[in-house]
Amino acid sequence: MGSKDVSVRSNFIRNIIQEDLQAGKNQGQVITRFPPEPNGLLHIGHAKSICLNFGLAYEFSGRCHLRYDDTNPTKEEESYVKSIQDNVKWLGYDWGEHLYYASDYFQHLFDYAVYLIKSQKAYVCSLTPEEIRRYRGTLTEPGQESPYRERSVAENLDLFYRMRDGHFQEGEHVLRAKIDMSASNINLRDPVIFRIVYAKHHRTGTTWCIFPTYDFAHCISDALEGITHSLCSLEFEDHRPLYDWFLDQLPVPCHPQQIEFARLNLAYTVLSKRRLIRLVNEGYVDGWDDPRMPTISGLQRRGFTPESIRSFCERIGVGKSESLVDMAMLEHSIREDLNKRATRVMGVLDPIKVVLVNYPEAEEEYLEAINNPEDLSMGTRKVPFSRTLYIERNDFREDPPKKYFRLAPGREVRLRYAYYITCVDVVKDKTTQEILEIQCTYDPSTRGGDSPDGRKVKGTIHWVSAKHCCQAEVRLYDRLFTVSDPTKDEKRDIDFKSYFNPDSKQVLSSCQVEPSLKGLEPGSRFQFERQGYFCRDESSDGNRLIFNRIVGLRDTWAKIEKRQDMSQGAK
Ligand code: ATP
Ligand code: MG
Repeated sequence: MGSKDVSVRSNFIRNIIQEDLQAGKNQGQVITRFPPEPNGLLHIGHAKSICLNFGLAYEFSGRCHLRYDDTNPTKEEESYVKSIQDNVKWLGYDWGEHLYYASDYFQHLFDYAVYLIKSQKAYVCSLTPEEIRRYRGTLTEPGQESPYRERSVAENLDLFYRMRDGHFQEGEHVLRAKIDMSASNINLRDPVIFRIVYAKHHRTGTTWCIFPTYDFAHCISDALEGITHSLCSLEFEDHRPLYDWFLDQLPVPCHPQQIEFARLNLAYTVLSKRRLIRLVNEGYVDGWDDPRMPTISGLQRRGFTPESIRSFCERIGVGKSESLVDMAMLEHSIREDLNKRATRVMGVLDPIKVVLVNYPEAEEEYLEAINNPEDLSMGTRKVPFSRTLYIERNDFREDPPKKYFRLAPGREVRLRYAYYITCVDVVKDKTTQEILEIQCTYDPSTRGGDSPDGRKVKGTIHWVSAKHCCQAEVRLYDRLFTVSDPTKDEKRDIDFKSYFNPDSKQVLSSCQVEPSLKGLEPGSRFQFERQGYFCRDESSDGNRLIFNRIVGLRDTWAKIEKRQDMSQGAK
């Protein structure tokens, strides 16, 4: 399971782990964790972290914990907790018995804070939040010590216990580590480690009214669980000295190693729960699992496979420098996967009627179609054929431009798996001149799609039989934003939502598809020949066929890769 089905490339974290194992560190164990905050659903950026943490643990026969980083009671919700587990499982990973919550450690964290106070490494500070900010200094100026810094151990303990017991208002006091107000790293300027918050926590209810900060809770949670390698994104690099400081001061069971890697940034979307939640709450999208969303649930609903996401995460690699990944790369991964295993079917998204004038009215027949030319073991199926068909409106031109090889007056084309047909007439609405029907003759000797006299046609088009086909709704999706980095102008007060792509969802409601699609389970994926890969939407029931386009057929990434290979080869 997990990343084992993906060919693995090496990366600097894997190298560190291998060296640690060779040096006999951590009793030869590899224990990682994935620590989401349950304040929203996971996105593809989290998938990178999940694949990395679980992937390495599996590879080195270790284990990976799923730990909710639930130290902020005002933003977290139980419903997210459940969905996050579903997302991780869907990606193909299993934490076994190792499901944890930072909130399980609140008592330990409190006790460790008391330990710090007793060793004169922490104090209760009564400056206002605004004063604390001001005293902290800037990148160029040192901070200023709090006037409460030299409180006695006894006074600190008394105040801290009373903070816990609910004797004070929010913001009246905080507990701070006593490190160094002139440290060049601002994170070391007496950071806050406990604050008062009167809010109901999703697990501890109102038992606690003081909550640890991320920096204090995270390193201790890692140590309590015996994590060997604590992998996090680059923004925590400046927090590492603090991570190490806490663990050095405290009698914790072990001292995990924090290693940072660059987060995934994907073009034309946003990877931040804080922003995604606004798209959901302000109605820009139809929920967290809207197929346009870069959330795991959105990708799942759109029709992405867990395998394609894992191979994408492997392909992007793990490094130390931030980069913006092209959406084409994610699309390449799903095409590569579905090309091998998706059944090909025919569906007409924008239908126009074709009547075969020399085909008998009452007749019908079943033609054999190949399910997947990439995998002939997937067999064949019978597709119904009759006198009246639908083809794609843009597969016909009255006045064809050069190099247009599809149907046109007097022109012969192949109907996939069926016959050669020739356009003999066009029926139009008298007033609007709109084409109502294309009349063709068919050549009975070309059954199956080849002519006995060796006559060639340049175009092959797909079709469905009007009498047999089913009506369907098809939803086409495009990128969520109109610019590659929608947050680029936030500093100038231009909200990322102003770059929302109003054409990101297009609904086609009168598509006609071959009858075999009726029996598909919701969630099943297939290819509409010449159109792309699609999946049956979850909301689609027996009476209503709804298909989501996962991705079109054109693969720009494959071309980019080929070009890169060629230019590398030339060097
Ligand atoms: P967001 O900004 O979306 O809320 P976060 O980092 O605050 O992200 P967490 O729930 O705290 O979200 O993240 C859990 C783990 O996932 C962390 O270890 C974090 O480093 C990692 N992570 C989050 N976003 C990305 C990303 N874009 N690429 C790689 N890893 C990520
Ligand atoms: Mg976070």
